[in-house]
Amino acid sequence: RAKTSGGSGFAAYDPQMLAGLVERLELEADLRLALTRGELKVHYQPTIDMADSSVVGFEALVRWQHPVRGLISPMDFIPLAEATGLIVPLGRYVLTEACRQAMEWARESGRPPVKMAVNVSVRQFDRTDLAAVVREVLTGTGMPADRLCLEMTESVLMTDTEENLAQLVHLKALGVTLAIDDFGTGYSSLAYLRRFPVDTLKIDRSFVERLGGQSDDAALAGTIVQLGQSLGMTTVAEGIEEYGQLAALRAMGCEFAQGFYFSRPVPAGEAGRLLLEGAGVRPAA
Ligand code: C2E
Ligand code: MG
Ligand code: MG
Ligand code: MG
Repeated sequence: RAKTSGGSGFAAYDPQMLAGLVERLELEADLRLALTRGELKVHYQPTIDMADSSVVGFEALVRWQHPVRGLISPMDFIPLAEATGLIVPLGRYVLTEACRQAMEWARESGRPPVKMAVNVSVRQFDRTDLAAVVREVLTGTGMPADRLCLEMTESVLMTDTEENLAQLVHLKALGVTLAIDDFGTGYSSLAYLRRFPVDTLKIDRSFVERLGGQSDDAALAGTIVQLGQSLGMTTVAEGIEEYGQLAALRAMGCEFAQGFYFSRPVPAGEAGRLLLEGAGVRPAA
């Protein structure tokens, strides 16, 4: 029997499951090659200062330019990279490329390097001495530590708490800043937040989405902004798509913003123009 109809039985050779497994194995082999073939591309989404609409920095977001499948979203290969351990070389690549790019823009503009935010997976904490990797990348690229921000989800605070706390303390000692990504979607408690050396809370898009509608929902984003303020952290709203959301967040005291309203993540060339010429970002006024 290829299929079972409920009960405690399982499908021994469900053709769909097999196809899924083959596809996964293929993708894994391809991802391994992608790293060596230069198929991973870093795109950049600006972070905007709510006060004057200036570009204060970028978030580096990886994409995979697959030779057959086209551009693949990180949502479709980061989980695979995490499961296979490929996230370690992948993460190192994105970190290096983002810092290298920030330094190239600095040389071209004669201005100090922009603030660069790079996503790190909880797996990079488990499997490597992240602080040692970051130190090497900073030294190798010349990127000043205080220009680099590492974004991590609440899971870093909630799993292997003592080990990860020690790593975060090492990272802070290097001078990098730390942000909690997708804040509000995890289960971190106030007690954890206070213990960890976090500088920034990024308000998850799901809270921003609900703004402009029910006042009930606005309370959630407002509470996160206030929480950030009372803990001495800056707040960044992610996923702003409409002016109403921007206005509401600014009124709440949220300092920085990201979202399609201002700019989508764009390839390095476009991000450079956006930074050097101020072109392409919608004003927040
Ligand atoms: P994230 O770090 O929370 O990044 C924000 C995601 O929201 C990005 O999706 C971005 O394109 C999208 N976004 C930005 N503004 C808007 C908006 O106004 N509306 C909507 N609907 N979406 C918006 P992306 O680039 O597909 O990345 C998805 C996730 O993949 C990231 O979420 C992050 O968790 C992960 N990721 C991306 N690059 C890396 C990386 O280099 N390393 C690791 N570990 N994870 C990465
Ligand atoms: Mg992020
Ligand atoms: Mg996020
Ligand atoms: Mg998010």
